[in-house]
Amino acid sequence: MNGYIPPLARLIDEFAAMPGVGRRSAARMAFYVLKMTDSQANSLAGAIIDAKKKIKYCSVCCNLTDTDPCAICTGARRDRSVICVVENARDVIALENTNEYKGLYHVLHGVISPMDGIGPEDIRIRELLKRITDEVDEVIIATNPTIEGEATAMYISKLLRPLSVKVTRIAHGLPMGGDLEYADEVTLTKAMEGRQEI
Ligand code: ZN
Repeated sequence: MNGYIPPLARLIDEFAAMPGVGRRSAARMAFYVLKMTDSQANSLAGAIIDAKKKIKYCSVCCNLTDTDPCAICTGARRDRSVICVVENARDVIALENTNEYKGLYHVLHGVISPMDGIGPEDIRIRELLKRITDEVDEVIIATNPTIEGEATAMYISKLLRPLSVKVTRIAHGLPMGGDLEYADEVTLTKAMEGRQEI
């Protein structure tokens, strides 16, 4: 494509397939790689292979981890009576950075989105239901304030209702259509504090 020699075209294609990377940026990254020393290039390739090999889903909360169960699920100081349900692993990091929430998490890895062909069975809802024992008093649903996030929250709350556990939804300090992972810590803490039963 575009007159690039095949190994370079392949590298540009790989970078361009990443989220938020256009072809122009992909080409810049590829040329940057070509300027690297062999040891720098090996280190980059090794980091990709190492991350893929070592990082798995926690068998309890489905968060990304290199130990199973993950450090949060096994943490001695975590409050095991609360589970906060989030869309992705980046949301866990955002909430952990507030230093306020001390409960457990459950990572759905997506939201229900019929338009994109994503149904309830395509995200980690089944795994969440299995975790609702007598030990759990509250499930906080912290999906993003988008149409899909709201629909997913309602769907999960309906499933949890017969299980006699309190279900809450984080407050809308977050702008509609907003994204949890980009919210600042104060907004996120306020959203958690202002959660309401649904
Ligand atoms: Zn875990």
